[in-house]
Amino acid sequence: MNSNMKVDWLIVGAGFTGATLAERIANELDQKVLVVEGRNHIGGNAYDCYDEQGVLIHKYGSHTFHTNSKLVWDYLSRFTQWRPYFHEVRAYVDGIKIPLPFNLNALSALFSLQYAQKLESLLIRQYGFGAKIPILKLRESAHEELGFLAEFIYQKVFYRYTIKQWDLKPEELDQSVSARVPVYVSRDNRYFQDTYQGIPLHGFTAMFHRMLDHPNIKVLLNADYQEIADEIRYKRMIYTGPIDSFFGYKHGQLPYRSLRFHFETHQKAWYQEVGTVNYPNEYDFTRILEQKHLTGQVAPHTTISYVYPQPYSPGENEPYYPIPRKENSQRYSLYKQEAEQMRDRVLFAGRLADYQYYNMDQAVARALTLFKQIVAE
Ligand code: FAD
Ligand code: UDP
Repeated sequence: MNSNMKVDWLIVGAGFTGATLAERIANELDQKVLVVEGRNHIGGNAYDCYDEQGVLIHKYGSHTFHTNSKLVWDYLSRFTQWRPYFHEVRAYVDGIKIPLPFNLNALSALFSLQYAQKLESLLIRQYGFGAKIPILKLRESAHEELGFLAEFIYQKVFYRYTIKQWDLKPEELDQSVSARVPVYVSRDNRYFQDTYQGIPLHGFTAMFHRMLDHPNIKVLLNADYQEIADEIRYKRMIYTGPIDSFFGYKHGQLPYRSLRFHFETHQKAWYQEVGTVNYPNEYDFTRILEQKHLTGQVAPHTTISYVYPQPYSPGENEPYYPIPRKENSQRYSLYKQEAEQMRDRVLFAGRLADYQYYNMDQAVARALTLFKQIVAE
């Protein structure tokens, strides 16, 4: 490491947030950026790579890009073409695989024709065709049969899955968590209905390479910023790692959930009918993922991964999910106040630094907004 290295910006983390800001600053402001990344690759949790069997896998769990923001879509489209892809998920319930989000097709699959039609009419009358109803809202229904349906879906789809994923009940988390997968009064089996959806044609990592491919950008892998910060002279820093770790956990640890992925290659073209099958009630994993559905790769064999939720402990595994609960956001706001004090020198953004359950498009939107603020200052 050249201890005399001098840059305008030190960016910690090469995920969506860090890469977007590095690209904007390098390109638009013509300033020098060093991106330091603790892992041995760029892309953050969206990283994809070929496994030993030659299958393109998403190392940290399947990533499907979806957004309603034309700004974000157009921005990323400068660095990649897209493979059109609509994500579909099934949940294994009562011995069959039903569509998720739970929709009118799930009703038809689970109940007798007559009863499914009755529930369908009730849902349409009460909420309207096309409505998306968070399960915790549906559970408030005073209607006897809708109340039965809500309880059925809560028990069979949400309760045990959420315990496995978060070690909490759905109602112990911010309502927005289970509302990500609302009951959908529709026959549309897609997981997302956003205007723009797809997978980078040559993969996420290839897209990140293009974002970071600029003479003003240098990337240092396998480097925790704490190990190198003293050796580099920089004017400002953008930090996209966990905010509690940055401040030495002075207000206590912010809790995160982690995951363990178990990969398996099978000597057949396809393992399951869609990219993700959830197992809310069985096993101690939550999902089986098969990324060939997303990538469109043609190969005689396929790689799947089992997703096992885990408690997070710093240094041992990855902080994949902030845990959206009131007491955690209160603790986060203590860190945020600290962050505000050093705004002229260090900026914080991203899923870990903002302690927000961002999707990829939200991370990019957040980075683009921060860049606008930097320019305006
Ligand atoms: P990250 O991707 O976490 O990047 C932060 C980077 O900073 C990491 O690479 C980390 O190694 C590095 N870092 C942290 N601390 C340090 C340090 N001290 N020194 C050096 N480097 C450091 N979103 C979607 O839109 N669609 C999906 O289908 C989807 N699926 C997901 C599945 C899973 C299992 C997970 C966990 C997330 C998923 N997401 C999905 C969310 C998506 O991964 C995030 O929105 C996105 O990765 C956020 O980007 P980021 O740059 O803020 O954070
Ligand atoms: N969820 C559930 N059962 C499912 C799918 C989702 O209980 O079959 C709940 C669970 O609490 C989960 C949340 O809805 O954490 C959000 O699901 P999503 O698929 O958005 O999770 P992610 O892909 O971000 O892990």
